[in-house]
Amino acid sequence: MGLFDTIHFPKPIPCPECGEEISSVQTKDFDCLMGNYYVGSVLRGGSILKGIVTEEIWCEKCFEAKRESRHPIYLVVWNSILAGIETTEGAAEQRLSAVDRLDLVGWLDEAQRSAADWRGRFFQLLGDIEKWHMHLAHQTNPEEGEGGKRMAAIFKLSDEILQAQDPLGALIAQHRENAKRDGKPRGWW
Ligand SMILES: [Zn+2]
Repeated sequence: MGLFDTIHFPKPIPCPECGEEISSVQTKDFDCLMGNYYVGSVLRGGSILKGIVTEEIWCEKCFEAKRESRHPIYLVVWNSILAGIETTEGAAEQRLSAVDRLDLVGWLDEAQRSAADWRGRFFQLLGDIEKWHMHLAHQTNPEEGEGGKRMAAIFKLSDEILQAQDPLGALIAQHRENAKRDGKPRGWW
């Protein structure tokens, strides 16, 4: 099967040939279920508990220019957690020996922040869908009582959405943008 996982770098790694910034690598070393891994992620399905996994970054620019387009990188794995991504074996070994409890606390903090962030985005989306539902119900029942009108006024989508040519499309676009607002590729797009 042609499936793979994507490992996202904490900061882009420049291509050693041309300097092009490379922000991720695709790997078949782990689950191969289109997963997204970051430093601090538990690597599922990998056979390595602790050690260094070699991978290759791929530079599209160098590939197109028919230069050497593959360069080694080193994934540092500590108790099945992706603990670092280094460009030299020496740096990877150093990173592996330096992992400590403070790293764990940092990863836990990041994971909890991320979970809270996604929870917030989910409820924002749910709220907007409920508002859209209410908007449609209100449209088909203009004779509803004062209470209904008041509720519709309180739980109203923004004018920007309601006045768009395709309000539902605008709502989807807004949430799609919201899903990548931190600049990192997340999920499926
Ligand atoms: Zn390059």
